[in-house]
Amino acid sequence: MSEARKLNKRVMHMSYRPIITNVREASSNEKSGLYEFIINLADGTECRAFYNRFPEWKMTNISRLQKTPCPVCRKDFICKCMESFTGELEQQIVENQWIDKAIAH
Ligand SMILES: [Zn+2]
Repeated sequence: MSEARKLNKRVMHMSYRPIITNVREASSNEKSGLYEFIINLADGTECRAFYNRFPEWKMTNISRLQKTPCPVCRKDFICKCMESFTGELEQQIVENQWIDKAIAH
């Protein structure tokens, strides 16, 4: 790999920005307001997110499904990287009404 590509790769990791391409409901308990969603990202990463809808929709936990290596640290086992993108992901979910779409199905 050329120096330029190495540098490029490093910069990419530092400035990683997840782009949500799909959200689907994995499980839910309407009474308690607890929901589990599977979030697909543009780079092939899949995450599991837990939400509590009371008093308002709020992501309570997110973790990467270990199907592909982490796009941030490249580990293929458990890491906490996705937690630092909770705000970014929540913002996209609100803007694109992903929850509404996911629970409508
Ligand atoms: Zn990671």
